Order: sequence, then C-alpha cells, then structure tokens
Amino acid sequence: MTAERVPAMFEPDAETMPEEQRAAVQQKRLSGMIDRLLAAGGLQGRRLAEAGLASGADVALADLPRLPMTSKTDLWSHYPFGMLAVPLPEVVTVHGSSGTGGRPTLVAYTRGDLRLWARMCARALAAAGATAGSIVHNAYGYGLFTGGLGIHQGAIELGATVIPVSGGMTSRQVTLIRDLRPDILTCTPSYAIRLGEALAAAGLRPGEGLQLKAGIFGAEPWTDALRARISELLGLRALDIYGLSEVIGPGVASECVVAADGLHVNEDHFLVEAVDPLTGGPVPDGTAGELVFTTVTKEALPLLRYRTGDIAALRRGTCACGRTLVKMSKITGRRDDMLVIRGVNVYPSEVERVLLGEPALAPDYLLVVDERAAQSRLVACCEYKTDGPAPVSSAAELESRLREALGISVAVRLVPAGTVPRTEVGKAVRVARWAGGEPPLPGLS
Ligand SMILES: [Zn+2]
Repeated sequence: MTAERVPAMFEPDAETMPEEQRAAVQQKRLSGMIDRLLAAGGLQGRRLAEAGLASGADVALADLPRLPMTSKTDLWSHYPFGMLAVPLPEVVTVHGSSGTGGRPTLVAYTRGDLRLWARMCARALAAAGATAGSIVHNAYGYGLFTGGLGIHQGAIELGATVIPVSGGMTSRQVTLIRDLRPDILTCTPSYAIRLGEALAAAGLRPGEGLQLKAGIFGAEPWTDALRARISELLGLRALDIYGLSEVIGPGVASECVVAADGLHVNEDHFLVEAVDPLTGGPVPDGTAGELVFTTVTKEALPLLRYRTGDIAALRRGTCACGRTLVKMSKITGRRDDMLVIRGVNVYPSEVERVLLGEPALAPDYLLVVDERAAQSRLVACCEYKTDGPAPVSSAAELESRLREALGISVAVRLVPAGTVPRTEVGKAVRVARWAGGEPPLPGLS
C-alpha cells in the first residue's frame, strides 16, 4: 500500500510517538496512577503500601514487573464497587461480562473513562480506514456487554454515522445493509459469517450491492483461516480488535488495515506485559505469554497489572502504517488450558492449529499427556477422515511440523475416525492425562 493510501490516524501524535517519548508519558501516568491507588486506600493501595511504596514518584517504569498483580478473583471478591478509586457519585455507568463462572464481572466508568474509551475505539475505526464520512453498521450487542456501546461511542467520536443495529434479527440487518450501504461492519467474527451467508442468500454479494470495505471483528478468538473466509464472503478487509471490560472494553488493541498482522496496543493508556502464566515472570518478545495490563489513565477502576488469562506474543517496531505502538498477536489460547511438557508451556490451540492445517485429518483429536515416566511427554492422537482424501502427511511429517511450531517433540498417532471419545455434546475431548493403568485410547503405547 502506498503512503497516500494509508488511512488517517485518529490521534497520530500518540500513535506514532517515538519510543523514548512514549516511555516518558507512560512513566508520568504510572506514577500518577500509583498515587491515586495509594490515596484511594483500597485493596490495590494496601498491596502497594505492603510492598513498601509510599509515592508514585518512587516507581520507575522498569519496576512494573515487580509491582503486585490483580486478578478477576479480586474483582469478584470486592463486587460490586469495592475496588473503586473514586467516590461513587463520580461513576456514570457500569459495564461487564457474565463471566465463565456465572458471577458477573462489573466495571465502573467515570465521564472521563467514557471519553477515553470513545477515543480508543475511534483509533480502532480509523485504523480500519473509517473516516467522518463512513457509515458503521454496528452489530455488536448493546447493553452491559462492552462491544456495542464501545464501538458506538467510538464511531460518534470519529464523526462517522453509526447504525446501532445490535446483534440478532438478521433479516432486518440485511435490509439495513442493502439500503444504507455501510462501508464498515463491526460484530463478532462468527456473526460476520452468519450475516455474510444471509446477505448472499438475499443476492447481496461483494460488487453486487455490498460496499463494505473493512470489518472490525472481536469479542471471541478467531483464526486467519476464518479471516480469509469472512473476507471472501463479504468482500472486505477483516481486522481483529481486542479488549475486555476489566481493562476498558474494545479498543485496548486493534489491527491496522495496512499491515493486518497483529493488533496495535494503545500502550500510552494500557501498559502491556506478556508473562509466564506459571511464574508470572516476563517472557521475551515473540514468545507467547499471558497478557497483563495496567490501566494508567482510567479513573473509576484503575487496575494495576491485571492478569487477563489471554495468551499472545508481543512484537515491537514501527509498522508499515507508521504506528510505533507495540503489537500483540491474535489470542492463541487461555492460561487455564496450558499444559507443561518437560518445562515448556504448550497450548492445545497451538497443536490444533498445526493439526487442522492437514486437510486429511478430521477435527477430532486427543492430546494425551503421558505422565507415566518422570519426564512427561505429549502424544497427539488424530483421527483421519475415512471418507476424505488419503492422509498426505505421514505422522513423522506432522511431528516435524509440531516440533517446529512448539519447540518440543510431540508424538503423533493417526487413528481411524470415531476412535477419539466424544462428550455428550458430541465435541471431542481434547486433553487426557495418563498417569498409569489403561491408556486413554485403546492401543496407545
Ligand atoms: Zn500498523
């Protein structure tokens, strides 16, 4: 893409800031945040005081990895407003998520927090090529969930025209897209597929009634294979956006349309670290680790070193779009799914990516952690399609690909379809531990 076709940034000074200048901004904001937490005297302030800190001036940016962490458990145990850093009357709204355990995670916002959030979402929209002349079809759900209202306020901040269609009622969405001809689509990647199929069924295809240029898809992890499918179906550039309500919502990080190879983290407001999920120590850039965010400018609920449980790798350097903001990879897994094999952290999703790259294999597989010896080993039992093409890769070829992708040896066993045990919902069981006795799969040795 040539320079004149690079879309205008929403906040170019902040987004292209040289590294040293940004570090100075981050330092000042981090010190200010520490002071606010100490003054608020809540859980985080007490932890800082216990760590011997009396003032934000005592904390250097390089000290960040030694500061106390916060987690979802902290939010739950201080539900609903126990972690506020401002008096309750300053709170103007709450958002949140239902959470996997059923307990809601509630996050409070001041007026200032809402303004910040709108700017972060405006950055994401501009990075996708949206302008004040854009029509944004926003099919994220509106409500407690941050997706709908986050993108909505961002589009208004940018000066675009936002269609607050929310999720569902697909036939109405098709009508609105046909009549209003939006250039930007925002929704979950799975809904983008559903919508694309409904549009095609209504005779609306790329170049035939569809004018979409870019889509911003988030709120669930998705792959590059899905990116290709959505792009083809809707004739747009499919871009990823990342956020979670605890940090602010969507707009924590987003892909630019120029490179679309990772998400620029708005690190002037959200300091990001990638840490080893077990030790909490930093992992080098380029290595997958758990993302940890520090929200240095948030007012109502500033979080120091919040552990997300999301696994991704960080990458630094200036992007072809001109942004100097650190990039995070797509989310490649969840902390809770991690296996440790001979001291190496392995995410089942990484193994899956290699296995599903083989068209002759069925999507059902079982990862067996063989713990019978002192040194555990990983065995990937993969079903091959009995009615499809013959396996083009031998087990040895798959083993070599897995070694390259994971950095450890994984034994591969190809088994006939139907061998891997299914749960009652028909989904394959992904991981089994074998500590002794009968193997989890007949014939395994
Ligand atoms: Zn970029």
